[in-house]
Amino acid sequence: MAITHNLGFPRIGAKRELKFALESYWKGQSSLDALKAVGAELRGRHWQAQSALDLAPVGDFAFYDQMLDMSFTLGNLPERVRGFEGDVLDNYFRVARGRSASVADEGQCGCGVAAGEMTKWFDTNYHYIVPEFTADTVFRLDASRLLEQLAEAKAQGVRAKPVIIGPVTYLALGKTKDGSDRLALLDRLLPVYAELLNTLAANGVEWVQIDEPILVTELEEPWRHAFEIAYHELKGAPVKLLLATYFGELQDQRYLVANLPVAGLHIDVVRGRDDLVPLLNLLPSSKILSLGVIDGRNIWKTDLNAVLDWLEPIQLQLGERLWIAPSCSLLHVPVDLDSEQTLDSEVRSWLAFAKQKLDELRILATALNQGRHVVQSELAANRAAIEARRSSPRVNNPEVKAALAKIDAELGRRKSPYSERADKQAARLNLPRFPTTTIGSFPQTGEIRQARRQFKSGEIEEAAYVEIMRAEIARCVREQEALGLDVLVHGEAERNDMVEYFGEQLDGYAFSQFGWVQSYGSRCVKPPILFGDISRPKAMTVDWITYAQSLTTKPMKGMLTGPVTILNWSFVRDDQPRSVSCQQLALAIREEVLDLERAGVRLIQIDEAALREGLPLRKSQWGAYLDWAVESFRITANGVADETQIHTHMCYSEFNDIIAAIADMDADAITIETSRSDMELLDAFDDFKYPNEIGPGVYDIHSPNIPTEEHMVQLMRKAAERIPAERLWVNPDCGLKTRQWDEVIPALTNMVSAAKTLRASL
Ligand code: GLN
Ligand code: ZN
Repeated sequence: MAITHNLGFPRIGAKRELKFALESYWKGQSSLDALKAVGAELRGRHWQAQSALDLAPVGDFAFYDQMLDMSFTLGNLPERVRGFEGDVLDNYFRVARGRSASVADEGQCGCGVAAGEMTKWFDTNYHYIVPEFTADTVFRLDASRLLEQLAEAKAQGVRAKPVIIGPVTYLALGKTKDGSDRLALLDRLLPVYAELLNTLAANGVEWVQIDEPILVTELEEPWRHAFEIAYHELKGAPVKLLLATYFGELQDQRYLVANLPVAGLHIDVVRGRDDLVPLLNLLPSSKILSLGVIDGRNIWKTDLNAVLDWLEPIQLQLGERLWIAPSCSLLHVPVDLDSEQTLDSEVRSWLAFAKQKLDELRILATALNQGRHVVQSELAANRAAIEARRSSPRVNNPEVKAALAKIDAELGRRKSPYSERADKQAARLNLPRFPTTTIGSFPQTGEIRQARRQFKSGEIEEAAYVEIMRAEIARCVREQEALGLDVLVHGEAERNDMVEYFGEQLDGYAFSQFGWVQSYGSRCVKPPILFGDISRPKAMTVDWITYAQSLTTKPMKGMLTGPVTILNWSFVRDDQPRSVSCQQLALAIREEVLDLERAGVRLIQIDEAALREGLPLRKSQWGAYLDWAVESFRITANGVADETQIHTHMCYSEFNDIIAAIADMDADAITIETSRSDMELLDAFDDFKYPNEIGPGVYDIHSPNIPTEEHMVQLMRKAAERIPAERLWVNPDCGLKTRQWDEVIPALTNMVSAAKTLRASL
């Protein structure tokens, strides 16, 4: 019998119930008990949704983050929050979110607490709270959260499999604050893990899922060795361990993993199918092998018949040792397709969210255990859906395919090198030295949001909506002229989101109503669904930009989102490589660039905020990704005449290891986020001798603080030590949409003064 299980269920709730409960509690509008009750209710509902499984995850629920949960389970609290006397959950939120000094904690000192650092969970859009270590870190078990949830699950008749983060991944993803070696803590950490496993066993647990996704990344020898030490020490515990890896291939870590003394291994065969055959040979015959056959990172229906064709021979080989599951936790997909009311029905018939994916798992298991005939009708329906998608004219557009086939090296190449373009652009634009500009968006006020809501719900007509947006644009242009900025923007009032806005206007995209995925804490994103060949039925931004340009004689910068960012922030097709979807996006945005140029727009900014986010987990694959990502940007941007100035923008990013690729994009100017790094991020550009123009951000737009003129001058002086002054721009770190006008005006006033001071003195 093939056993079915799940690695984790999305915790946010089908209607984002957890988000609203958290935010209401944080605002003081509801009690801690009410929040805890929502948590319990969601857990109950989610176990219910998993009731057909042989084993359901317990402990995958978190009020903020599973890594932070693990830190609390291991008693690894940052020094600054120890000794807190209130509810543990309140202390947990203090680490998660920080606490400003002005807000007095109830019964506490009222002093501030810095939030834990947050970073990306592997190559997902989920962010975890980084564990903090010092050489003196001690661990102490607090199993209360897990035991409570276990008791809850048992009371509901759930066949529970607790889920924890493994010790090596836990250490690997943390940071030491004192420069000590975090691996040295392993000896101290393992007894606490052993105690945890013993405690779970004493509470009737048979299987524990222990997640070690770090195994799909490149590991140095001491870290591989840590796996041997850790799992040999834990093998005495009276539970069976299912070591779970996901998000990629084990590759050179197969031998190591196959021979660790655990009872079972889970691998992601959606992304790491090549691991399977070698592992079948390596794996001792006593071990369970769990195959993650359903994509936990995407929203497409699984081709169940194809999976069965592939799985049945493996089942013959593995017999009772075969388990099946989604590839990874379903945290990274939305909860329930049944919530969708307005989704295009054809596209909808191709999709599966978390609940539907678990149903697919049930069908697979039934077919494996009782024969395909038992689920004949389900398999036939699935086949029909897969075939409909494959042959749909909505997916396949021969014109797009033909255009793609015509891409050659010329398409992405500017006519002249930067130095020649720079002279022509300077002559045309006639900008002062240290030209000032902004990154695109201006405050998204309540009125703007309201107008958009009313337009979407049909309360106001398109004409009325356009009038309101035009009025906003006019205001934005007036303010920028009054400020004395050199290159203006239209302010992006008409855009809800920098990806969705373009997705809505491109053929090949669909949008869900409730397709939310947790990004961090209570924050969710709703990635658009790229389902078909991409084309642009008509110009998307030209009317807005030309209107804005008509209001001023200053140059107006056209504003677009680049293909790589659109791709990386969408659910993308699984029936063609990402690189092909990216090229299609590139051709569509290229047409927009050329239309803007024809309309007389002299500068065009193409944002690539998410370029770095798309980097593969293994460094050995970075080159291939950067090649097609950069080529896609070049196709988008580089069809313009020498006189047209191309800008790009990237948010906070390390540049050291990708600087050659950035230079290869060949944008005339790049604006980046540097204000909080004290311009140190520019070192990468300096060392590389980056040849084009740079606008290092001098205004931290994440903070309500108004930067002073002196501070910005100082930052620019540091920039000028690294980059020749004639190639520097003066601008904020990023867009201003989350700020208020009364913050933006004084900040930009100071920024413009700073540029004037610089012109006079440098
Ligand atoms: N042009 C966008 C804006 O100004 C850029 C946002 C981003 O880089 N995240 O909002
Ligand atoms: Zn940005």
